Amino acid sequence: MICYLGLGSNLGNREENIKNAISKLSSDPDILLKTRSSMIETKPYGNIVQPDFINSVIEIETDIPAENLLSKCLTVENELGRKRNEKWGPRTIDIDILFYGETTVNLKQLTVPHPDLHNREFVLHSLNEICPDFIHPVFNKKIEEIYLELK
Ligand code: ATP
Ligand code: CA
Ligand code: CA
Repeated sequence: MICYLGLGSNLGNREENIKNAISKLSSDPDILLKTRSSMIETKPYGNIVQPDFINSVIEIETDIPAENLLSKCLTVENELGRKRNEKWGPRTIDIDILFYGETTVNLKQLTVPHPDLHNREFVLHSLNEICPDFIHPVFNKKIEEIYLELK
């Protein structure tokens, strides 16, 4: 399964946090790193006053179920010292599952495609860099189209 993960950091050495998260994920035997987008600096999303983020998106290939992939992402967040305080608050690292192939997942702890990605310019910008032709399985539209619509 080809999956896309969104990474973000706005605490500590932000680039280093993203790099460390990517190397931890790619050293997992169940995860093959295929592509990574550039890192971009972005203004915080939502209404909390906090430092700017560095964001990036990676393409991976994996055969494990989406719930297991989520656990691995949460483990890497914990290993890199993420503390969960206020919603959408500052964090050393955030790893979201954006797409899990063209599969939709609706579990209590996991919604895929990520339910807000189409409203987030920084996510679409990075996805558009690495997979403009990928079709969002809920909207049935290419990333490029969703990105241009938001802009
Ligand atoms: P947002 O998801 O709006 O970007 P956030 O990333 O700040 O917000 P977190 O505090 O990192 O939210 O995550 C809270 C919970 O969201 C996770 O523990 C996880 O169970 C759940 N979740 C649901 N769907 C997803 C997804 N697609 N990717 C990652 N986590 C998800
Ligand atoms: Ca997030
Ligand atoms: Ca998250």
